[in-house]
Amino acid sequence: MAEIPSTMRAAVTYDFNDIRVAEVPVPEIEPDEALVRVGACGICGTDLKIVSGVYKGVWPPELPFIQGHEWGGTVVKVGANVKKLKIGDRVVAENHKGCGQCIMCRRGKYNLCEVARTRDKAYKLYGHTAPGAFAEYASRPESILHVIPDNVTFEEGAIVNQGAMSLHAYRRCRIEAGDMVAVIGPGLVGLITLQLARAVGADRVIVVGRGPRLDLARELGADVVIDYTVGDTVKQIRDATGGIGVDCAFECAGTPAAVNSALGCVRRGGRVALIGMTGNKPVELNTDRIPLDEIDLFGVRSSPNAYPELIKLIAAGKINVRKLVSRVYPLEEINDAFDAFRKREGGAIRMVIQP
Ligand SMILES: [Zn+2]
Ligand SMILES: [Zn+2]
Repeated sequence: MAEIPSTMRAAVTYDFNDIRVAEVPVPEIEPDEALVRVGACGICGTDLKIVSGVYKGVWPPELPFIQGHEWGGTVVKVGANVKKLKIGDRVVAENHKGCGQCIMCRRGKYNLCEVARTRDKAYKLYGHTAPGAFAEYASRPESILHVIPDNVTFEEGAIVNQGAMSLHAYRRCRIEAGDMVAVIGPGLVGLITLQLARAVGADRVIVVGRGPRLDLARELGADVVIDYTVGDTVKQIRDATGGIGVDCAFECAGTPAAVNSALGCVRRGGRVALIGMTGNKPVELNTDRIPLDEIDLFGVRSSPNAYPELIKLIAAGKINVRKLVSRVYPLEEINDAFDAFRKREGGAIRMVIQP
């Protein structure tokens, strides 16, 4: 095993819209942590928002900061209290680490850890409030690292974070065999949600978006694709379901219009999962349908307890994530990768950084 250096290259966010690669210390590890050599780290829509200052003062709490929360790599060092992981294990990392003590953590909802409201270090959101993985090395507690089998590459591993969120959304929204499903927003989460719906026996999956991403949606199993730029989305979904509407709608776009479409397109008694965030943009909503038609609304945050199952689905080929990695960039070209993702070049789904 190669010697671990004392410094490493990392893409540091020095200021908003100012990321530069620099030499920084390799992270120290706590007794319950492992040091991981980063194999690949994806750029998320949230990263674009963080770097442009949308969540100023919160994500990150202060600058300079290392972003990056969708990643995998190889364990190179383990702390004294690490029990299962060993050097050489290939792993992917969750980004929420709950305090383990509060009522939410004790219910398994560590994505909603109560301590998160405070600056208590017992709760960490890596890549948002604690250092991320646009770097050669990153340290994480063993509890949020999951081993991936050899047939899952690090680039595919970088997709697990968002894929696990789709799985969490599916569990919240309870797709049943024979259900009609609408996925609004064919980004990474949307395209995995589409495949999950297929895998669990949805009858018809409708994907709403525009441009080349709709072709990819069709390739990945969408029965119907709807371009929201050519007409009213809700009407198009109703037309595609014999006027009834879908059983479940997944809002994965994070726009006010998509939230309205999701609420409008479900049938009576339907279920809506809100996954996207509008970035503090207000949404004007007629809520009468919610009581009148008993619509269930589910907020979906992150991916508690979902990594192991999602890894199994990818390893078994039930979810194709290979097609979702658009392009791999070296760390030095991280700004080009951010720009290309921002412009959605060629319908880009995920740009991945390989440190
Ligand atoms: Zn993300
Ligand atoms: Zn907690």
